[in-house]
Order: sequence, then structure tokens, then C-alpha cells
Amino acid sequence: MNYRKLGKLDEQVSIIGLGCEHLDRKPYEQAKETIDKALEYGVNIMDVFMPGKEVRENIAKALGKNRNKVMIQGHIGASDINQQYDISRDMPTVKRFFEDLLRIFGGYIDYGMMFFIDSEEDYKNVFDTGFVTYVQNLKKGGYIKHIGFSSHNPVTAIKVVNTGVPEMLMFSINPAFDMLPSDRYVFDHFEKGFGSEMFRGIDPVHAELYKLCTQKQIGITVMKTLGAGKLISKEFTPFVKPLTVPQCIHYALSRPAVGSVMLGCKTAEEVSNAMAYLEMSEEEKDYSEILGSVRNDFKGSCVYCSHCQPCPVEIDIATVNKYLDIALLDEKAVPPSIKSHYSSLAHKGGECIACGSCESRCPFGVPIIENMAKAERLMS
Ligand code: SF4
Ligand code: SF4
Repeated sequence: MNYRKLGKLDEQVSIIGLGCEHLDRKPYEQAKETIDKALEYGVNIMDVFMPGKEVRENIAKALGKNRNKVMIQGHIGASDINQQYDISRDMPTVKRFFEDLLRIFGGYIDYGMMFFIDSEEDYKNVFDTGFVTYVQNLKKGGYIKHIGFSSHNPVTAIKVVNTGVPEMLMFSINPAFDMLPSDRYVFDHFEKGFGSEMFRGIDPVHAELYKLCTQKQIGITVMKTLGAGKLISKEFTPFVKPLTVPQCIHYALSRPAVGSVMLGCKTAEEVSNAMAYLEMSEEEKDYSEILGSVRNDFKGSCVYCSHCQPCPVEIDIATVNKYLDIALLDEKAVPPSIKSHYSSLAHKGGECIACGSCESRCPFGVPIIENMAKAERLMS
């Protein structure tokens, strides 16, 4: 397993985490086998969604004495009235469900996630009410270690990040969602699918969210990595061909600020299959061909796919471009953390010998030589 720091938080999280929603209504033994397998691979972050109460009890029981070795994402404002998951902003209901979650998981939750802030109305119901105060008090009281939130809408997520309240974010990331123009809502396309005609390249608002999170050191955990399975399905993929699971994982992990991809697994075998990612070659994980096959109105923007490698002087081009994109948000005030990340790279943009081999390989027309020089100027 590889681990990453989640933004400004101290702990290192496994790059693949376990999304537990598919353990709902499964026997305890199955939940136990799945969780044991994940722990065996070094998974140390789990998302505990709110389907049924029994599954939450099963997860905690399966973790047993390993509870404190795992970071739990628990959702504040999620409820399961009549075993139907729902969003609640009614404070007595919010408190009842979250306090039950606290009880089940040993009195604390690592990441207390303000649940599902997608619309302007969601935003108001969280930030203009006692909801946010309740969450802040949970942190003051030591019941949650960090405040997070979950969202599927980049416009609202940017607004929430800018409040300065959250320390981390769970966001839906996959190539189809990222290419969806930000004035469309992903859930409207869940059933009817994603017609490739609506794609125009990586949506600038999505890109802005990831850059903002990096700039503010807000780590991201990822949900909907496979787009509810549509991206890997021959029948439903919006691309020329389905992506593979490792390509979807790799895409999410290559977005700026992403710490961990929470994969929903319901058996030990599914966990093992997902972990095959850790052993795969760069070629096997490369998603550039599929992204390169759709219309792209943003030619010249890096999608961090690494298809341009290898570089003869061993510059990690995607990473340099990633830092550069963040530095370009405000050239006069490049965050010290970004300069520090850049200076710790083994090979920097200034070492580019302008051989041009990367540019001929890049399917997205990125001016790499120019970018390497710019990165050196802004960050060295
Ligand atoms: S042009 Fe520069 S960055 Fe690109 S492969 Fe050559 S040396 Fe590396
Ligand atoms: S420069 Fe092009 S090929 Fe290289 S990582 Fe960026 S988009 Fe991919």
C-alpha cells in the first residue's frame, strides 16, 4: 500500500480506502472477511455511509481492536429512517443519528463529514443554521477529529471550501463527471447516462476546485470513482470504450489534492481485485487514450495522465504541471507549500533540455517545454 498526507492533516491515509455502503444487508461474516482483507492490504481509511443500522454495528464489530488503526469517515446529516438513507438537516434527527454513530465507533469519528452539500439550499441549510455550530462543537469536544464535507457539485464545493470551515472533502471524481459542464448536475445523468456529445474536455470549474483544495491544503477523498459502474461497462460507457477499474483509480489519484480513493467493495475478492492496482505498470493505468478520444475545448491543459513520460532527464512532467497549475492561480502569491513540494522533486522543470519528445507524445497539446521553464521561474 502507498500512503498520502490528506492536505494539511497530520495522518497519512492509504491511497485506496474502503467504501462500506455495499456491505449493507450482507451477513456479518462477509463484512468481517471484506474488512479483514482490506486491513491485510494496509487500508487505513473507511467511509461508513448510513444505509442500515445493522451494517454500522457489523463494521465496528469486524474492526474490533483495530478501530483505532483506521480513520473513519462518518456522515453528519445522514439518516436511515426506515432503512432508507436520507439527508436530514433537522437537528434532533441529525444529532440522534450521529450520536449513535459515535457510540458504535468508540466515542469518536475521525472525519466528521457534513453530508451532501450540493445545492445552494444545502449550503444555506448547513451554514445559515445551527448545523455548522453543532459540527464545530463536535470538534471542540473531541468527538470528531476533523471537519469534512461531501459534495458532488464543484460550484458549491468551492463555496464551502472558501468558508474556511472544512479541513477535508469527499468528492465524486471520475473522467465523466469531470468532463460534465458544471452547470449540469451529475445525478441528473445517473439514470439517463452521459452522452459523449456533452463533453468538452475537463470542466474548468472542476479543475479549479482541485487546484483550490491543493492551494488551501484541503485533502480530498474520492467517491463514485467508477461512475456507479457505468464507466467500466461496455453498455453504458460514454467513451469509445470502457475504462478499466485501475484506469479509473489512477485518474482519481492523479487529480491535485486527492489523498485516497474510497472503493466500494462487498467481498474479500473484490478487495483483492482492487488492490491489483498497486502492482500495475504505468501503461496499464494510463487513461490518456480514452480522454484523448473525446472533444476537448481545452487543448493545452494538462490532465496529469503521464502519457508523455519517459523524460530523458527524469522530470515527473505531470507533477510539475500540477504544481504549476496551482501556482498560476496567483503568480504573485504562490503558496509556500507548493514551492516546498516543487523543491522536493528529484528533478525540476529547470532541468528540461527541450528535447521535445514529451510534446510529441502528449495527446492534449500541452506546451510542456514552456511549462517546465515557467514552473522553474515561479517555484524555484
Ligand atoms: S522536453 Fe524537457 S520535459 Fe520534455 S522530455 Fe524533453 S527534457 Fe523532459
Ligand atoms: S503533459 Fe500531456 S501527456 Fe503529459 S501528463 Fe499532461 S496531459 Fe498527460
